[in-house]
Amino acid sequence: MTHIAPDDAEARRAVPPVVCYPVATLPRPDLAAYEAARRDAVKTGEIVVAPRDAACFRVPAGRYFRISCTRGPQVGDLNLWNAADFSERFYSGKTRALHGSHLTTGGRMWSGFPYLRPMACIIDDTLDWYGIDAFGASVHDVIGTRCDPYTHRLLSGGEYHHCCHSNLTRAFADETGLPLAEAEAHVHDVLNVFMCTGFTRDTGQYFMKASPVRPGDHLEFFAEIDLLGALSACPGGDCSSEHSSDAAACHPLLVEIFSPSAPPDGWTPPGRNAYSRSHGR
Ligand SMILES: [Zn+2]
Repeated sequence: MTHIAPDDAEARRAVPPVVCYPVATLPRPDLAAYEAARRDAVKTGEIVVAPRDAACFRVPAGRYFRISCTRGPQVGDLNLWNAADFSERFYSGKTRALHGSHLTTGGRMWSGFPYLRPMACIIDDTLDWYGIDAFGASVHDVIGTRCDPYTHRLLSGGEYHHCCHSNLTRAFADETGLPLAEAEAHVHDVLNVFMCTGFTRDTGQYFMKASPVRPGDHLEFFAEIDLLGALSACPGGDCSSEHSSDAAACHPLLVEIFSPSAPPDGWTPPGRNAYSRSHGR
């Protein structure tokens, strides 16, 4: 059943929007201090994420990590956990509410309740020039979830085992020694590194298009707390056509860790959120 628009429908539609979470009161990261400390940082490790697979990496608080495109356009799905407590993990929904649908330099990856603190801050994005294109698309979204074998089964039937969800599950299980079923419960909605996405204007559907990333591009972060990360090189490759299959050209991704000689000036690791948790009782 559909409904007839009321007489004042246009007036109701014309009401201007109000930003849900104004961030003027949000403590701002001191990017100049982060960049200054980064200048003398030395590389302490790296991992290469194989195409259609995932790998874990650890970054102590106060260090930096960089995700690079090295061989060809490739999208990465990033999960983050507190290295000492996996119940604290990246919360893409609240990150989106605070920073918008796509992240770039100065944006932070926030953890879920009851912690709600910045886990990592983006300090450099070589795709920051892209902005929002004519389709309403931008890069590095926090709106997609991660490609997964359940949705694939639902929409296409059949089994595909190299979706980002499964890649992240295997990598987390290998890193922690947890059985696969337990590891799976720790995998969460991602930051879609290098992915170019938006919502169609006519139907509001989530769409993707070929990533503008090229070899030499990177996204770099400062670790605010001790982190365990997992990155999947999505089977969608540059996500120009399809994912959840072996059809797309896929490339590796490089993760490098850097340690500065001293932490950024004035920086201290953020504490967990100070709300009392009494919930009115
Ligand atoms: Zn994927």
